[in-house]
Amino acid sequence: GLTVTRVSTLLENPPVGMPPDAPMFLNGVAEVSTTLAPRALLTRLLEVEQSQGRRRRGMTEPRPIDLDLLLYGNEIIDEPGLTVPHPRLHEREFVLRPLAEIAPGLFHPVLKATAADLLARIGYPTAP
Ligand code: ADP
Ligand code: MG
Repeated sequence: GLTVTRVSTLLENPPVGMPPDAPMFLNGVAEVSTTLAPRALLTRLLEVEQSQGRRRRGMTEPRPIDLDLLLYGNEIIDEPGLTVPHPRLHEREFVLRPLAEIAPGLFHPVLKATAADLLARIGYPTAP
């Protein structure tokens, strides 16, 4: 029920809010076409994390994989355990850079701004 339609470059980033010896992160975003409803999609993402060896202990330890649901069309969802758009996506350069790479015009339905706008808002320089 899920087809990957676009994948960004993977960017290597230093860990934020983790011990100084924590390994680097690789961050990227993918666009998918799916028949799964948002909740079923998140459940599937969490299952994939599990299958790749993710164990939820502390927030501040290295992790083999983290799959977040950033946006689901123009839907706005605020339920226990599922918030879409992802509540921190607009603050994170490591999300906005790959998002703006594959979909600069993608619209954030709460903030009413495109991915490129959100990247500019956090001060990331845009091409002249
Ligand atoms: P983070 O991704 O913020 O570092 P986690 O991966 O540990 O943290 O996520 C914690 C919980 O956040 C998940 O178990 C999930 O239920 C919840 N959650 C709520 N909204 C989302 C979303 N849009 N994408 C991914 N997880 C979400
Ligand atoms: Mg996550």
